[in-house]
Amino acid sequence: MRTIHEIMEESGAAIAVAGHVNPDGDCVGSCVGLFLYLKKNYPEKQITLFLEQPKDALMSIKGAENLHTEIPENYNADLLFLCDVSTEDRIGAAGSLLHTAAHSVCIDHHVSNPGFADENEIRPDASSCAEVLCGLLEKERMDADIAAALYTGIVHDSGVFAYSCTSPATMRAVADLMEFQIPFQHIIEDSFYSRTEVQNRVLGFALEKMELSENKKVVFSSLSIMEQIRYHAKLSDLDAIVSQLRLTKDAEAAVFLYETKPGVWKASLRSCDYLDVAAVASEFGGGGHVRAAGCTLEGRYDLVRARIMSAVLMALRKAEA
Ligand code: AMP
Ligand code: MN
Ligand code: MN
Repeated sequence: MRTIHEIMEESGAAIAVAGHVNPDGDCVGSCVGLFLYLKKNYPEKQITLFLEQPKDALMSIKGAENLHTEIPENYNADLLFLCDVSTEDRIGAAGSLLHTAAHSVCIDHHVSNPGFADENEIRPDASSCAEVLCGLLEKERMDADIAAALYTGIVHDSGVFAYSCTSPATMRAVADLMEFQIPFQHIIEDSFYSRTEVQNRVLGFALEKMELSENKKVVFSSLSIMEQIRYHAKLSDLDAIVSQLRLTKDAEAAVFLYETKPGVWKASLRSCDYLDVAAVASEFGGGGHVRAAGCTLEGRYDLVRARIMSAVLMALRKAEA
């Protein structure tokens, strides 16, 4: 990929920055960080941020208040930047822009990203899209708000620098961001660990009903739409559940199924040491990372559950053989 500066210099004035559906901390942090950086350094261009509404904890990222959840009529982009978007069909609020924008650039870290944009910077060894951006943006042209947004992205995808995707390069990028005197303890507490009452109650329910496979290596739980309604939970209130399931002692993998539309189930998969969950997710047309991946299945709950669990258990048997 050319440098961000070269790309910006050669582009028309209408620039869009966008992320993926149901945006997580890395997606929001990366998009906001890039948006603020472009606004600061290219004041002559019109930069617009398109994101689906994230959960409230992520709206604490300064700059997120600029997001648009819909494309205005007659809007067209000369240049579209996509952050943390692994496949074409996962572009969130700016979906239609990919084919109408004069030029598209995707910055990402998913192994499964096929490189669908005109220019792509995909680094599967990076913890997060925000870490990839740290390597692309010039430090001298950043400020504290940009640094805080990128820091938030890294915190979320690395599980506060604890998941195996964290590398020495991650920590060097983080050290550079900390030079901007960002309020890192508040970022970690408020955007990552803090839970609303609804999020804690629905987490408690999902943990209460969790089940273990016969060999105790796979932890499973699920939430139907009716159960989500009972707890007044939105989809974005469910994203910490699978990480907690994964922490069950001696388990290698966690599977969390949640119904997004009647008969449509999102599967979130996580593993600890050796199961490649991205490979399992790809059997169902999904993808992600080796230790964190997702896919969508359709049909009756008991059948969907049996399909995903047998795929995970089969992959586990192969990995252990
Ligand atoms: P999630 O379980 O939704 O938190 O997703 C875990 C990881 O897998 C994230 O990095 C997602 O971007 C990625 N992912 C989730 N669902 C899909 C999918 N259907 N296709 C490709 N990547 C996905
Ligand atoms: Mn993401
Ligand atoms: Mn990410």
